[in-house]
This record gives sequence, structure tokens and C-alpha cells, in this order.
Amino acid sequence: RPVTLSGIQPTGMPHLGNYIGALRNWVSLQDSAQPAQAAAAAAGTAAPPSPPSVLYMLADLHSLTVPQEPARLRASIRDLACALLACGIRPDASVLFRQSRVPQHAELGWLLFCRSPVSWVSRMHQWRAKLQLLSVPETALDGTADGRDAGLSDQDIGSIAETVAGSLNVGLLSYPILQAADILVYRATQVPVGEDQAQHLHLTSLIARSFNAHYGKQIFPVPQSLIPPTTGKRIMSLRVPTAKMSKSDPAEQSRINIDDSPDDIRSKIRRATTDSVRGVTYDPQSRPGVTNLLHIWMSLEPSGTKWESMSQEELAEQVSARFGAMSNQDFKNVVTDVVVGHLTPIRGEILRLRKDAAYVEKVLADGEAQAARLAERTMRDVRRAVGLA
Ligand code: ATP
Ligand code: MG
Repeated sequence: RPVTLSGIQPTGMPHLGNYIGALRNWVSLQDSAQPAQAAAAAAGTAAPPSPPSVLYMLADLHSLTVPQEPARLRASIRDLACALLACGIRPDASVLFRQSRVPQHAELGWLLFCRSPVSWVSRMHQWRAKLQLLSVPETALDGTADGRDAGLSDQDIGSIAETVAGSLNVGLLSYPILQAADILVYRATQVPVGEDQAQHLHLTSLIARSFNAHYGKQIFPVPQSLIPPTTGKRIMSLRVPTAKMSKSDPAEQSRINIDDSPDDIRSKIRRATTDSVRGVTYDPQSRPGVTNLLHIWMSLEPSGTKWESMSQEELAEQVSARFGAMSNQDFKNVVTDVVVGHLTPIRGEILRLRKDAAYVEKVLADGEAQAARLAERTMRDVRRAVGLA
């Protein structure tokens, strides 16, 4: 029986990249895993009970790998739950829960830390990118050859110390192992994620296989990642189209949040970085900005065309036929209309759910009880295998 697990960090409102790369697939996996329940929901009748096999987590422990202000974190967690429900996660079909409320994640995490070579995590792209980002000010701290400092003001030194201490913590290095625990504690077999998580998912399968080999038992299945093909796998920043769209990007203009108003969406897309080439063409290498807008349009336009399965040549041909004569500005209007049409009902539902905190809290508490039951079943086998039972 397939078991699905995925997560999202409460580091801000989900954006279009989260939606296209992950959340939308969460909903379709939920609906295909529980067809009887999906039909009941569509007909407005009571859903038949079935064992939980689709789990979605608010990854609050992961979000602590970067500094979080407590009151703000609390609000982000609540808001993220509203966003997921608004996107179509249904509590009768999916288990929705906060990672920190199911302590088996942290317990299995520790056991896996103790079996994972440091080099496996220090090799991860995300960690290396972070190191690189911070290596410049660290060298500046070495000072000059004659023993004087490198001319930094007290304020510079203060802010470097703050950034380095706040950013390069042990949690940030090792969180891919906790991610493995998140998945393996439910013996999940499939993990729907965006392409930026491909390397971490591969690490999870290494950890599962080495754990099984070490203890001589098939304790964990090896999970598969489900990454959208081509068009929707990685939505890029509207400002810098060579970087992925991220919740943690300080530039608000870089992303469209799923609760943005139609006016916000229009103005963000109008100002999105493109180029001065005339006519719209599909050219990922030399026109990343235009291509990103095309990917967004293809992922959301309602005709049902199978853009995802087309080759680069087919995509280029179709795009030229359709938009070749259009100015960037007119094309941006077309993209805006599709995005606004798609996000308007979701935004409405988020605004409604924000006013119903008691309902949202109950959904999470129910989810946590179900998740803990499943996780405990796995942990009993794990503790026995390790010698802790
Ligand atoms: P943060 O910057 O705080 O890490 P994030 O935008 O990367 O936020 P996550 O919570 O880390 O979001 O990831 C949630 C899911 O969204 C993951 O499955 C991830 O692969 C996917 N995802 C994140 N960004 C994109 C993107 N730009 N395009 C497609 N999928 C994405
Ligand atoms: Mg991320």
C-alpha cells in the first residue's frame, strides 16, 4: 500500500512555486489515494473511514534552522495550516499535522544522525551554497598580514557575527537527516516535492538502505520522490529568474504568494524581470525570465494541454505559434489573468479560515494523534532493532 508524506516549512505564506511544484500534487495524490472519499466530498456526503495513507506536515522543526521570532513563528504555523486547507487538503482524506507535536520525528532523527557520515550532509548543495555565501566576511575577519584588522567597523563585525552564528548552525547542516526521519518514521513510499529537494530525497534513500543493511532487516522501505516533470518542477524568482522562488527571499517582489490580491499579482508580474527581445519565445538558456512566466502559464492554464510531456522543440514550436507575435507586456497580462483566476478562490478560502482558529487547531490536533499512532508503530520496530527496547 503506497504511503505518501511531504512537508512545508512555516517560513511564510506559500508562493506559486510551492503551489505548482508541490502543493497541487499533494491534493491530487490525496484524491487518488482515497477515491471513495473524494467522491463523497464531491457529492457532499459523509466519507467512509479508511486507514490514513497520505500525510502532510508543517515542518516547524526545520524552520528553526534559521532564526525565528517566536510570536511570528506561531502566527506563520497557523497561517500555513489555513493555506494548506484552502489549497484543497481535506482532513477526512489526509493527515495534516505539526512536526514538533509528534516527538517520534526527533527520536528517529537522533538515531539516524548517529548512523550518517558527516560527509553525506556536508556535500548537500544547499549547505554548500550557504557556506559560500558566508565565506567572504569570515575571511575578512582574519585581518591583514601585519596584524591589524581588515578595516571593518564595529557595526560590520557585529552584523557578521550575527549572520554567521544565526546561519551556520548544526541544525542547518543536519536537517536533511531529520527530513529522512520525517519520511521513514511513517514508512512512506512516495514523497511529492519540488526539484530543489531531489538531492535530499536521494540522501533519504541512502540512509534507509544503510540502516536496513546495518541491522539486517527491512525496517524501512526505500521511498520514491515524485517531482513534476519539466514545466512545473522549479518556479523561479520574478526578480532574479536564475534563482528559485523562495519564501525566505527577503524581496517580496520576487514571489507571488497564494494569498496575494489580484492587484498585487498584477503589479508583481508587470515588474517581473524579462528582456528586451521582441516577441515571446521559449528559450530557457537565453531568456530565463520569459521562460519562467511561460512555465507558470503552462502549469495553470485550463486547457489541459500536456505541456509537461512535450520536448523542448515542441514547446518552442507551440509557444511561437501562440505567443510569437505578442509583446512581453501583453503576454504578462495573459499570465496575470491565469494566475489571478487560479488563486482567487484559494485566497478567499484562506481569508475565511483565518477567522476560524478553533477549527484549524482541531484539524491539526486530530492529525497529530493519527500521525503519532503510525509513527509509534515504526519506532517500536526501530528501538527493538537498535537494542533500545
Ligand atoms: P524556504 O525559502 O523557507 O526554504 P521554500 O519556498 O523553499 O521556503 P519549502 O517549505 O522549503 O519552501 O518547500 C516546500 C515545498 O515546495 C518543497 O516540496 C519544495 O521542493 C517546493 N518548492 C519550493 N520552492 C519551489 C520552487 N521555486 N518551485 C517549485 N517547487 C518549490
Ligand atoms: Mg526550501
